[in-house]
Amino acid sequence: MAKINDSFSKLAAGYLFPEIARRTNAFLSENPDANIMKLGIGNTTEALPPTLVKAMKNKLDLLSNRETYSGYGDEQGDTPLREALVNYYRNYGVELDASEFFVSDGAKADAANIQQLFSKDNIVAFQDPAYPVYVDSNVIGGRTPGYSKELQGYENFVYLPCREENGFIPEIPNQKVDLIYLCSPNNPTGAVMTHKQLKEFVDYANENKAVIIFDSAYCEYIKDDSLPRSIYEVEGAKSCAIEINSLSKTAGFTGVRLGWTIVPKALVCQDSEEGVINSMWNRRQCTFFNGASNVAQAGGLGALSKQGLIESRALVDYYLDNAEIIKEGLESLGLVCYGGGNSPYIWAKTPNNMTSWEFFDFLLKECHVVITPGSGFGPAGEGFVRISSYGHKENVIKAMNSIKENFKNVK
Ligand code: PLP
Repeated sequence: MAKINDSFSKLAAGYLFPEIARRTNAFLSENPDANIMKLGIGNTTEALPPTLVKAMKNKLDLLSNRETYSGYGDEQGDTPLREALVNYYRNYGVELDASEFFVSDGAKADAANIQQLFSKDNIVAFQDPAYPVYVDSNVIGGRTPGYSKELQGYENFVYLPCREENGFIPEIPNQKVDLIYLCSPNNPTGAVMTHKQLKEFVDYANENKAVIIFDSAYCEYIKDDSLPRSIYEVEGAKSCAIEINSLSKTAGFTGVRLGWTIVPKALVCQDSEEGVINSMWNRRQCTFFNGASNVAQAGGLGALSKQGLIESRALVDYYLDNAEIIKEGLESLGLVCYGGGNSPYIWAKTPNNMTSWEFFDFLLKECHVVITPGSGFGPAGEGFVRISSYGHKENVIKAMNSIKENFKNVK
């Protein structure tokens, strides 16, 4: 008799976005003429940069010819792309080897799968609020006995609250933890860690032989050059950190799908020498993954070219402009807002002590705008909402006008 993996039944709630869709659809079924404006999910909306499109079309031409056709590639990714990634990091002053890069079909799967390399006994720390994948994948990975209503979180998990008081930057764990998930610029708060703040985590991890899983999916949104775009800009990070990134938010590849994970050879933990974790991830990918799409990889190579980077950064600037429009609009209503600037997300405090879902319902029903309730990202997200800058500028302006016109109805 087959038995299911009962860790799935420990997941506390459905994924956040299905619940948003359920409420939106329920409202629409009662108000079919309502024009709903979406500033919820972080899904890109603008056309792909021309250099990337050209690179992918060229690849398709090669594939359409018997002489130049190619099938499976290396599971780790094409060598020219891995070398282009080495160069990309070099421009940020980070020296890595191509064998430390593992190209994938995006950051989400890597962020979910990376926990497979580590023992079930590890104590895991998460920024709170955080991108839900880190917590959920560790629930499925069997690292918690279950969700505790009393704790408002999973037992055995260590939550590092990111609140107004600490500028939404997590504090070093006050107990020994083994794995630490960090994301900067952060989804959902938009907070960006400084060198000094990251260095404290790197020092903690090296001292405790802990491993940091650093998600830098929004690194290209950092406009302030004093802020680190990669954890490897911080001295000592190669021996304690894995970095995950993708072209989704940098180059509009949310649908094309291309990402990478860096597992430095120097990375060690309590029971592994240098090179072991790198080999394990290699083995994991070779067993579970058959390489990223060759068309997407050609696009990725285009994105990392000089012209590709210029065009991709213009795309990032477009969303950052939207973020500014949102932030200014909300602040003009007296709302306290964080994020934006070096991030595509605005993290707004709910008015009148409303809960995140109450403010979500208000914006949906009164303004016809969908945002994301902060509590969906973890207990410390309560009392906040995340507004995404991903949208056509004209729609962002319309949504903001609707919020401005109807905000007076807020209770
Ligand atoms: N990491 C963070 C912090 C994200 O917000 C997202 C997507 O929203 C991802 C990873 C997923 O990226 P990808 O599209 O590369 O899977």
